[in-house]
Amino acid sequence: MTTFGTQFCASFATARFEDDAWQAHRIEPLAPLSLHPAAHVFHYASTCFEGFKAYRWADGKARIFRLHDHVRRMQGSAESLRLPIPDADLLAAMVTELVAAEVEQIPAPPSSLYLRPTLIGTLENIGAAASPSTTALLYVLASPVGDYFSGGARPLKLLVDDQRARSTEQLGSTKTGGNYAAALGPTLDAKARYGVDQVLFCPGGDVQETGASNFLLISDNEIVTKPLDTSFLHGMTRASILTLAADLGYKVNERNFTVEELLEYAKTHEAALSGTAACLSPVGTLVYRGEEVPVRDGEAGKNTDRLRDALQDIQYGKAADTHRWLTTV
Ligand SMILES: *Cc1c(COP(=O)(O)O)cnc(C)c1O
Repeated sequence: MTTFGTQFCASFATARFEDDAWQAHRIEPLAPLSLHPAAHVFHYASTCFEGFKAYRWADGKARIFRLHDHVRRMQGSAESLRLPIPDADLLAAMVTELVAAEVEQIPAPPSSLYLRPTLIGTLENIGAAASPSTTALLYVLASPVGDYFSGGARPLKLLVDDQRARSTEQLGSTKTGGNYAAALGPTLDAKARYGVDQVLFCPGGDVQETGASNFLLISDNEIVTKPLDTSFLHGMTRASILTLAADLGYKVNERNFTVEELLEYAKTHEAALSGTAACLSPVGTLVYRGEEVPVRDGEAGKNTDRLRDALQDIQYGKAADTHRWLTTV
């Protein structure tokens, strides 16, 4: 399988917001878009997206993971950017019809079909810096993706940055392009300087998340992570892992914690990053103020493996979907 995100299905779904209403959606051949160079998105970053997966089970049908929760999250992102909010039924239909059209293209688990709804402001007005885009394009891309861990789950190394924020207080929980632009420079600098994989953003010492993943601490009996607020992205993988952890008898401890506390936790707890692309990835090393701090023995831990397996077993159809997270197409 090719690199994550570089291969696309032959069709995509589109819908436009014009004349104050969402127009009928279409499934059409994937092709370049034609946009006016003054489009709001190019100048004022009126864009948000979603990312989630569909799996093809042995019965030949696809199962989309937490479709309706992702639709809701996209509505929240659109609202925070003052973009036209996609109707829930419209976006869900675009996704399910696209998956139905491309079901044959979904590779068997652990591979999957990654779905990428995208919403952009198309208003042709470079004077609209302080006004919303009143027209928009919504589209859904489908991309077959392989097993993220085909080379084995090497524990990650993170730079702990206790100064900079990944995003802003008002957009941290919005899945919008500008947040990744803000995290890119610091992340590339940290890779070059410290050989780390990612930066764990902890502004003022508050442990938040990395550029595109949530951060969790896990022991034999508890799971610790930051409680929901607008400073970070509310990951569906995070939420699912917390739910399954509770099912398995772990204490779910959603609390704010500082870098100082993190360094203490690292002696006793496993650390992991969560997100749709890589599910749950072990963190083996933290780099703080130029010093390397191992997370326990620096190796992937058994609780991380156990929780990842519990989630993937549901996604792959090996365990019952007791929380009704899957939509069958
Ligand atoms: C998408 C994303 C996540 C993970 O969210 P999931 O719903 O678990 O895929 C975490 N942090 C950021 C900044 C993200 O963009």
